Amino acid sequence: LSERLSGVFDRLTKQGALSEEDVRTALREVRVALLEADVSLPVARNFIKSVEKKATGQAVTKSVTPGQQVVKIVHDELIATLTGEADPGKLKIDSPPAPILMVGLQGSGKTTTTAKLAKRLKEREGKKVLMASLDVNRPAAMEQLQILGVQIGVDTLPIVKGEDPVTIAKRARTQASLGGYDIYMLDTAGRLHIDAELIQQAADVRDAVNPRETLLVVDGLTGQDAVNVATEFDDKIGVSGVVLTRMDGDGRGGAALSMRAITGKPIRFVGLGEKMEAIETFEPQRIAGRILGMGDIVALVEKAQEVLEAEQAERMMKRFTKGQFNMNDLKTQLEQMQKMGGMEGIMGMMPGMGKMAKQVQEAGFDDKVITRQIALIQSMTKKERANPALLQASRKKRIAAGAGQDVSDLNKLLKMHRQMADMMKKMGKMGKGGMMKQAMR
Ligand code: GDP
Ligand code: MG
Repeated sequence: LSERLSGVFDRLTKQGALSEEDVRTALREVRVALLEADVSLPVARNFIKSVEKKATGQAVTKSVTPGQQVVKIVHDELIATLTGEADPGKLKIDSPPAPILMVGLQGSGKTTTTAKLAKRLKEREGKKVLMASLDVNRPAAMEQLQILGVQIGVDTLPIVKGEDPVTIAKRARTQASLGGYDIYMLDTAGRLHIDAELIQQAADVRDAVNPRETLLVVDGLTGQDAVNVATEFDDKIGVSGVVLTRMDGDGRGGAALSMRAITGKPIRFVGLGEKMEAIETFEPQRIAGRILGMGDIVALVEKAQEVLEAEQAERMMKRFTKGQFNMNDLKTQLEQMQKMGGMEGIMGMMPGMGKMAKQVQEAGFDDKVITRQIALIQSMTKKERANPALLQASRKKRIAAGAGQDVSDLNKLLKMHRQMADMMKKMGKMGKGGMMKQAMR
């Protein structure tokens, strides 16, 4: 729900606030969860600190415990940290042939991921892809890519024994140009540990082809270590995105958080198995739930939030049913509608109002109309807004002129206000008969 709306509700209802003690107790649990998920210690520490600041003093939803509320805040903050790009799966592959360089340690899943991505680009985006293995250290590595290529129906650069990585990369570029490929993917060699030679090799290739994307493939199970690897690769070669593999395992994916927090690099994809289809675009939501291992609580808090909103709507309704629906209220309603893209918004949230919302919408109630109506209300004085009955002909003229509209527009607005106020009052009366209470459930 929109922040603005909750802002409105906050003014209407006085809720309890999270105390420092509540926050601290809950965060102790969260800290354990983060460390268990392999989030690196400094990252976990910083993260907790920032949540602590945000959470202390925040309003507590009635239907949950403060602890659960903190978890919800933690969850939202996790998602914010994990989110790197609006569309992480969108690779820069314009100006064909676009080179994509795959780097990472040995065994991290580079070759597998190269083929997975090639398959995806071919099938989802209709791209013509060429794959080339630059792994001259292990003879079997080149064949591995070739076999995968045959399996997924993607071409691989013919293997020529004795070439160095840069020569192969250049040959791939030539072949890609001549063959009309959209993309050529370069699968580099890895080592068990980062060493100068490995980095130099990748840097040379980078300088030779100037890749559009340099994707770092990291084993998501390695936790802390993954971050060091990422930092090193980024410093020395420059990385445009990260692919976390083995996220199908038992690991809780804390590496994702550490990676984002320390390197700031967007995570683009996650590998979810050995099969060629086992790759997905990175989804912060999913990983956040997994890192916390508290998905149920988050769902619970979300549910509670809904309940709270219903309670708040009810409180608003009570006021309205006493005939206290004024122009300010109408303005709020209109703004909510605008924000939520239509009448289904707040009106829909109020029991019994859904039908009316529909009627208004059918009467050609679009965004432009709403904007004009808000302008009319804005050109009223405070007193007029609180009590529209004050509006006499001369005042109406002034208001309409102030909003650059006709008096007839204003009359329409006033009529609508009257109808809404009446309707709410009537519903209030029904409420005394118990119907309202029933509708509230
Ligand atoms: P490279 O040395 O970086 O090229 O790594 P490979 O691509 O050869 O992968 C090493 C091993 O990890 C292979 O057995 C792959 O099948 C496996 N692998 C790669 N990605 C994943 C993944 O996302 N999940 C799982 N479970 N295994 C993977
Ligand atoms: Mg390999």
